[in-house]
Parts: sequence; structure tokens; C-alpha cells
Amino acid sequence: MAVPFRRTSKTKKRMRRTHLKKTIPSITTCPNCGAPLKPHRVCTNCGYYKNKEAIPMGETTSDEK
Ligand SMILES: [Zn+2]
Repeated sequence: MAVPFRRTSKTKKRMRRTHLKKTIPSITTCPNCGAPLKPHRVCTNCGYYKNKEAIPMGETTSDEK
């Protein structure tokens, strides 16, 4: 197995890691109930996606667990 010839310097390591940064998570709100949502996901609160009921949510579903 190949082994690095030289140890990576602090500067080189830090230069490489300038591209690694956290991104702000994008959050939208459900048009049906207004709950905060990740984009392109069915609402976990009311089961709606694109203003249609994607998952039927009864009164006693697996919502509370
Ligand atoms: Zn909703």
C-alpha cells in the first residue's frame, strides 16, 4: 500500500479544509398546515405534498410514538 512521502503541513491541511463547511439547512413551510419542512418531502404533520394528501392521516396513526 502506498504511503505518503511527507506529512501534510498544517497550512496544506487547512487550505484543503477551507472547502469543507457546513451549509445552512433549507427549510420550507407546509402550504396546508404551515409546519416547517424539508423541501421535496411529504409533510410529517398533515401528510400533504403538493397540496394533495399523499399519506392519509387518521386521528390515531403512528404519529405519537
Ligand atoms: Zn402539513
